[in-house]
Amino acid sequence: MTRTPLIAGNWKMHKTVDQAEQFVQGLLPRVSTADGVDVALCVPFTALAAMVDSTRGSRVEVYAQNMHWAEQGAYTGEVSAAMLVELDVHGVVLGHSERREHFGETDRALAVKVPAALASGLKVILCVGETEGERERGDTQRKLRYQIQEGLERVPTEQLGEIVIAYEPIWAIGTGLVATVEQAQDAVAFCRALVADRSSEQAERTRILYGGSMKPDNAAELLAEPDVDGGLIGGASLDPETFSAIVSAAA
Ligand code: PEP
Repeated sequence: MTRTPLIAGNWKMHKTVDQAEQFVQGLLPRVSTADGVDVALCVPFTALAAMVDSTRGSRVEVYAQNMHWAEQGAYTGEVSAAMLVELDVHGVVLGHSERREHFGETDRALAVKVPAALASGLKVILCVGETEGERERGDTQRKLRYQIQEGLERVPTEQLGEIVIAYEPIWAIGTGLVATVEQAQDAVAFCRALVADRSSEQAERTRILYGGSMKPDNAAELLAEPDVDGGLIGGASLDPETFSAIVSAAA
């Protein structure tokens, strides 16, 4: 089974609509000929509509960075799946470590958000990963098992292959520290084995990304690992040149 690599940029809380437009004008010509790779941008809510319009007809898909699980209701400040779908947003990143750390995102909530997003027709990137302390204590697999089993608990087995998992060691996010290719491959293969516990056929379809200080100069070796199906890119996704260089490394 060959899985098309996915390179997804996570802008976090960066870029006004004007800055996002400038980025996309720089990006589109650079990625137009990159074959055999899917490209996504995870942008702030305020830039979603503009980015959907500006990337229409291109290879770039637009994702949100969070959503609520309910269809509607008294949830001030939240956004539903239907609101994203109405804008023609393609997908959503769920469970990023920054949302878990700063905004109390829990595996329990993700167990509801992930199937709610899928049921609305949104693609999902589910982020998982261990802290430095958990890795040092030998708890990496325990953490990944818990996050993946709970996050995917209510996803119907036949839809598991549609999910994208981003393995992001928290100690490597925004720090300049990068997992070794062995650490990345081992953890990503372990994530795939966890999906395979439910369905080995679906696990072969599931794309599993590495995230954590991926840059143009380390992307190729990480992406060459057999189980690494792409990257979730933070800092290096803010500039069209560095982001497109990573896309080229995956193409
Ligand atoms: C991220 O935000 O998911 C991420 C991987 O960030 P960075 O590439 O900056 O480490």
